[in-house]
Amino acid sequence: MTIGFIGLGNMGLPMARRLVEAGHDLVAFDRRSDAVAQLGAQAATSPREVADRAETVLASLPTPAVSLEVATGPAGVIEGSRVKRFIDLSTVGSATAVQIHDLLATRDIVALDSPVSGGVGGAERGALALMVSGPRAQFDAAGPVLGVLGHAFYVGDKPGSAQTMKLANNLLAANVLVATAEVVVMGVKAGLDPNVMIEVLNAGSGATSASRDKFPRAILPRTFDYGFATALMVKDVRLYLEEARALGVPIEIADTVGRLWGAAAQSQGPDSDFTTVIKPFEEAAGVTVGPARR
Ligand code: NAD
Repeated sequence: MTIGFIGLGNMGLPMARRLVEAGHDLVAFDRRSDAVAQLGAQAATSPREVADRAETVLASLPTPAVSLEVATGPAGVIEGSRVKRFIDLSTVGSATAVQIHDLLATRDIVALDSPVSGGVGGAERGALALMVSGPRAQFDAAGPVLGVLGHAFYVGDKPGSAQTMKLANNLLAANVLVATAEVVVMGVKAGLDPNVMIEVLNAGSGATSASRDKFPRAILPRTFDYGFATALMVKDVRLYLEEARALGVPIEIADTVGRLWGAAAQSQGPDSDFTTVIKPFEEAAGVTVGPARR
């Protein structure tokens, strides 16, 4: 089956590669043409051309504004002649997902909202958690494609509800990364070995996705190359805060987490890897966490 794929970045490229390896005929577009060349897929020159050539179009794009533009803007997916289903794998928040759903519905294009969790490693291994909302029958029809990327969870038929689930997940991921950074910096200042700290945390009740994955992979070895930009984490926390404020629910922890990530983006730069979030903690404490034990 021909599948369209738009956005071949840190996440999109390994996901698209898995689809090619699974035998799908892929037509792809990224505004960076080198990304399509790397993939060995058929290249399109616009989102509309992708949607002229495939019934199912997937997208993995950086921000809500880019997803909206690619899906519904000029030369966007909405203008395609063949497309029946648009599956957005990006984190855009529920308001943008609803906007995309409503605009595509005017052209009888079904929107499935499908943000993902699991990072670049999960994308490479086909081990992502995909959170999907939209019509159940469309979720079932997309099953063979989504199954190549990971485990697809049906969140509900309400447009945008998968985005709400994703924002809840990422607020926790954002939270435990800064919390783990803060306590490991404290331990190192007190003279503890950070490698021992991470081993103990992972064997005990302090284990988090940060101690299990981000610290061993990118912080202790000081490679800071996990593959998720600080600006994207700031975006996810901002989207969470917008939704939570609109709902009128407590945001005491989210507010603090948002402030810490905003400060990290300022000091490390928006394009820095999000694992550099530990550096402002290190600088304030006058210590360095790592390097990893050989
Ligand atoms: P990225 O910045 O690495 O990739 C985005 C890609 O989109 C780039 O290749 C860029 O050239 C392309 N692009 C930008 N504007 C475009 C346009 N107008 N038309 C076509 N292509 C365009 O981002 P990423 O890390 O791959 O993240 C993609 C999405 O997945 C984001 O919404 C992010 O929040 C989410 N996400 C990322 C991770 C991660 O670990 N990186 C994990 C889960 C979810």
